[in-house]
Amino acid sequence: METLFRAFMLIFLSFVLVSWSAPVPDGKDITPPGTETDEQQAKKYLKAFYNMSSRSIGRSANSAFTEKIKEMQQFFGLNVTGTLDNKTLAVMKSSRCGVPDVGNYNLLDTNLKWETNVITYRLVNYTPDLQPAEVDKAIASALGVWSSVSPLKFSKIDSGIADIMISFAPGDHQDPYPFDGPGKTLAHAYYPGSGIGGDAHFDEDETWSTSAKAINLFLVAAHEFGHSLGLSHSSDPSALMYPTYHYADTANYKLPEDDMKGIQALYGLPTAATTVASTTTAQTKTTTKGNQPSPTQTTAATSARARSETTTKANEACRDNMSIDAAFVLGDQIYLITNGTVWVKQPSKTVVKSSVQTLWKRMPTPIDAAYALPARNTVVLFKGRQYWAFQGNALRYGYPKDISNYKLPSSVKKIEAVANFPETRKIDFFVEDKYYRFDDVKYTIDKTGPIAERYPGLVKKVDAAFQLNGFLFVTSGATLFKYDYKNNKVVENWNIKAWIGC
Ligand SMILES: [Zn+2]
Ligand SMILES: [Zn+2]
Repeated sequence: METLFRAFMLIFLSFVLVSWSAPVPDGKDITPPGTETDEQQAKKYLKAFYNMSSRSIGRSANSAFTEKIKEMQQFFGLNVTGTLDNKTLAVMKSSRCGVPDVGNYNLLDTNLKWETNVITYRLVNYTPDLQPAEVDKAIASALGVWSSVSPLKFSKIDSGIADIMISFAPGDHQDPYPFDGPGKTLAHAYYPGSGIGGDAHFDEDETWSTSAKAINLFLVAAHEFGHSLGLSHSSDPSALMYPTYHYADTANYKLPEDDMKGIQALYGLPTAATTVASTTTAQTKTTTKGNQPSPTQTTAATSARARSETTTKANEACRDNMSIDAAFVLGDQIYLITNGTVWVKQPSKTVVKSSVQTLWKRMPTPIDAAYALPARNTVVLFKGRQYWAFQGNALRYGYPKDISNYKLPSSVKKIEAVANFPETRKIDFFVEDKYYRFDDVKYTIDKTGPIAERYPGLVKKVDAAFQLNGFLFVTSGATLFKYDYKNNKVVENWNIKAWIGC
């Protein structure tokens, strides 16, 4: 039921045709004609894409409007002025993806992804703008963009219900989001789920092409399928999942790094047969970007080299009385944070060392606790009574925020550790020898008490925690414990220094 509900939480998209390449006049002295219309348009835009409520009135409505303008400006990397300056209006007026940039997210996002790596798709109909073979090719190539960097495989079926049902239709097409004629909204897609979940709809009022003219079907479809697979919009202008459409060379199309990280955070790395090409890409990019964690190396030779390099690096930060401040899992990588250092444990067992400042600019250290929302490629970091949400490397608008949003009492000055349980929509906060269990559906603390009551047999002092594959992992001092919370016992433990290769 929940998945179904989530799937219906629309994500629909349209793309920008114009705007983008058109230079935007600088300065605020040019008053655009019809200011009231601009404001009305802006409100419509912020309601559609930034979850602006239409309920507030008067003074509070004005400040809510200003806040939403700021939020939009932040997302697009514009000057955050809170006013409808020309650049802001230009972006708002350009055609764009209809999927909201800022959703209605809860604090704990469920991981919207397919449970299987083999996903079926079906073309329900074809656009008359192209030959059926051209459509088939564009769709297959668009899916190939994602399967080439992940373990996903796509299988075309010609009858029955596929995971991703693909159709072309103009105007009202029997879902709550009618299309709008040529331009503006070009297509929309639904997040993974049953029923309409995963489906992608293309506006037949557009002229679909296989070239730079009109609307390139491959590019729009590749973006849409990102949503069909669980990705939301990115603020990175170079990303395929950026909200606006702009033409890119389709002949040698390479999925941008931001999108690759996003899909791998959800589904992991490609299986052996397809690994080599993408690994090479990842390594090259990582080198140029400094010491960010690379999406791993899995071939024997590179793996061995990586291990020796990273082991040396890891040693520099290993201390005698080392303990972990915070930990989380994103994709199949485990992040362990201590002071300004971040160790990223890859599935290939290699450990890459990075720094808090590289990954999350201006995040104060030491960090107390952390958890991740893989579907949003977002990490939530806690320090004192505040928390920061970073999507990729970018601090989300409005952060840091106060932990009272998690209904934690004012007596809580600092969180030792946090672990999220997406299946049950709960988040466990560890505070001294107590735990607080936050219910992300009801927005309440539904349970609290001594840690020893909730997790009998677990250590009393928890430094960091994460949940993985049905086990709770906690660190205490230099030890990592694997705790079976269904049977209430520690099943394994490791020395952290050995585990990360100190
Ligand atoms: Zn989109
Ligand atoms: Zn639709």
